[in-house]
Amino acid sequence: MSRIIAGGETVICGGGIVGLTLARELLMRGHKDIIIIEKEQQLGKHASGRNSGVLHAGIYYSIGSLRGRTCLAGNFLMKDYCKSKGIPLLERGKVIVTKNEAEIEILETLYKRARENGARVELVDEKRLKQIEPFAKTCKHALYSHYTAVTDSKKVLKELYNELIVSSKVKILLGTRLNGIKGNQTLTTNRGLIKFGTLVNAAGAWSDELAHIFGIGLNYRLVPFKGIYKKLRPEKSYMVRSNIYPVPDTRNPFLGVHFTRNVSDEVLIGPTAMPALGAENYGILGGIDKRAPGILLTNAILFLRNPEFKRLSFIEVRKYKTGVFYSNAKKLVKGLEFRDILPSQKVGIRPQLIDWNTKQLVMDFVVLKDGNSLHVLNAISPGFTSSMSFAKILANELETLN
Ligand SMILES: Cc1cc2nc3c(=O)[nH]c(=O)nc-3n(C[C@H](O)[C@H](O)[C@H](O)COP(=O)(O)OP(=O)(O)OC[C@H]3O[C@@H](n4cnc5c(N)ncnc54)[C@H](O)[C@@H]3O)c2cc1C
Repeated sequence: MSRIIAGGETVICGGGIVGLTLARELLMRGHKDIIIIEKEQQLGKHASGRNSGVLHAGIYYSIGSLRGRTCLAGNFLMKDYCKSKGIPLLERGKVIVTKNEAEIEILETLYKRARENGARVELVDEKRLKQIEPFAKTCKHALYSHYTAVTDSKKVLKELYNELIVSSKVKILLGTRLNGIKGNQTLTTNRGLIKFGTLVNAAGAWSDELAHIFGIGLNYRLVPFKGIYKKLRPEKSYMVRSNIYPVPDTRNPFLGVHFTRNVSDEVLIGPTAMPALGAENYGILGGIDKRAPGILLTNAILFLRNPEFKRLSFIEVRKYKTGVFYSNAKKLVKGLEFRDILPSQKVGIRPQLIDWNTKQLVMDFVVLKDGNSLHVLNAISPGFTSSMSFAKILANELETLN
């Protein structure tokens, strides 16, 4: 018989940025009895510790969407947090550059949307672009976002962890994997039973499976996309001052391979977004789990039934070839040579939600609630940026469960 190892008014499954910022928000609202369960022995092993660290600035997302409502507000909150805790923060903005005249129209749409969202943006000509990013390449115009910044996501997680632990009102149980539910107030884990009043599922790439255990969100499935990064040869890192992004393909949820100077002054190029064989398939074979046959089948069905998915897969898989990766990258930066691009160890997995009824990729965060549980599905980019603002929405939702 399993024994009870813990009990909490609110139990959050997942110690990524969504779980940690929600716990902090609840703490600020006076909640006292919170448990976070995290299957890994340390934080930051998945998306929240493997991202680009870019604090996006409300450019891409429509104002009514959850991403639109939380991105810029989250950017401001996260910047304040970094400043108050001494976490590195590069506030140098970013440019979005065009490859051809056809993209100028999309750039103008982004400009209008950003202004509606309250972002500080400028449409700049090539002369002004040269002052901001001397090596960025564009066709006539580019968009300059003033509020975009870059931080160190692992340091943010560490600081949040310390703050929560010190409060003594939040327990973080590392190495504790939620396996299922017994009755409607007891969770089963690898370490024993945990009693809960309300449960929040913030399990990232595994959140669909957990929601299904609770019998909700059955029409949703997460499909993992692997994001591989490369880096700029250090002697050439002067070519990128801060962030250079392409105009995104608005039909898919990824922003395209871009250049980002991180807080260690390394210029990363990426990430790609190619279908992966597991939620943690970071290596070629490593991390392929029991779900691989199911993921393969899901990908095959999507490939046949969703032309956008097929197109995206073709484009992204080709980027595995360094030559193709390079030809994309050199469209953004003048004078970039093939030998300037070096391999990098950095890799992340982006779980992308599919609505299985329509076979379409879901383009916003999804929050489902049922009885005494709240489920966060599809915390896609800019989930890191949005987190502190999104936590307020989640806390409001959670309080309606009590
Ligand atoms: C390559 C890449 C680049 C990105 N770049 C950016 C960016 O520049 N800016 C930005 O804003 N966003 C970016 N994002 C998106 C951002 O990182 C995510 O939106 C965010 O990290 C999601 O946080 P999360 O807490 O939902 O997930 P996670 O960080 O995956 O956390 C979920 C946690 O739940 C745990 N867990 C899962 N199942 C269980 C279980 N059964 N029991 C216990 N614990 C469990 C996992 O171990 C994990 O630690 C990027 C993402 C990737 C992958």
